[in-house]
Amino acid sequence: MDQTYRGSCLCGNVAFQLEGSFAKFYLCHCSRCRKTSGSAHCANLFAPGAKLTWLKGEKEVSFYHLPDTRFARSFCKTCGSMMPTDVNSGQLVVVPAGCLDSEVALKPQAHICCDSRANWDDGFEDVVCFSDMPS
Ligand SMILES: [Zn+2]
Ligand SMILES: [Zn+2]
Repeated sequence: MDQTYRGSCLCGNVAFQLEGSFAKFYLCHCSRCRKTSGSAHCANLFAPGAKLTWLKGEKEVSFYHLPDTRFARSFCKTCGSMMPTDVNSGQLVVVPAGCLDSEVALKPQAHICCDSRANWDDGFEDVVCFSDMPS
């Protein structure tokens, strides 16, 4: 069922709307995702045939395509927040889950590219949790 989702970047220069539905939700641990996210993995939602509309700041969005691969990223030029990427105009929109302001019902379905995990990316469920910043 199609829904409308909204998202934005950290500095607020960029905002978007997505009309469609998410078919897949993957946590990707590949080295490209680790580099671009600066973290253990990306959390990407995949929306085939969804309609991506920039509500503001379309010109503030930079696009990077890694040569000779299908890897691409969109991000805010000012704050660096990852933004959705419309692959092959309208065929597939890849949405970094963290940039959404709307809630998503779908839960992550799989960790992928696990052979590329960082050596410290293991046993997170055993790491102590604080409700806020520890003092
Ligand atoms: Zn921004
Ligand atoms: Zn990846």
